[in-house]
Amino acid sequence: MTDIAPTCCGRTARLTTGREIYPNRRDLHWKHFYKCDRCGNYCGCHPGTTKSLGTPANAATRAARSNLHDNVFDPIWKSAPATSQYDAEDHKAKARILKAARSRLYRYLAHHLGIDRDACHFGMFTLEQCKRATEILTGLSYRTVRDWHYAQVKQEGKAA
Ligand SMILES: [Zn+2]
Repeated sequence: MTDIAPTCCGRTARLTTGREIYPNRRDLHWKHFYKCDRCGNYCGCHPGTTKSLGTPANAATRAARSNLHDNVFDPIWKSAPATSQYDAEDHKAKARILKAARSRLYRYLAHHLGIDRDACHFGMFTLEQCKRATEILTGLSYRTVRDWHYAQVKQEGKAA
């Protein structure tokens, strides 16, 4: 896998480490980041790699992305086992349900944002997209996502 550096302000961001980004956070010094030397925006990398998590962003966008992920998106798919009928002792079944729920929720969000599933990564979202995604997901129950998913499957079945 090649690590393609993200762009910001029309040019390639520079690979650096947490030593520069968070000088006071020794626990983050080993991590990789991409920083834009023109505007100071930055973004993190997938754990243990130099593969960027998305596009460099400013403080407001970074906060919106992480709030969207942790407080809005994750609680919905994590509620899936409580919505489904499964044996609470069956951890494999629970893991399967969670994995499917997460993937369905990504597709639901991409569909409602009008973007490709491949482009639906919080690390790539603009502040505006974070706001729209929050509106789409706020108050959404996993049951609605599941019903939407089955309606899509049915439609695809008819089209085929
Ligand atoms: Zn920039």
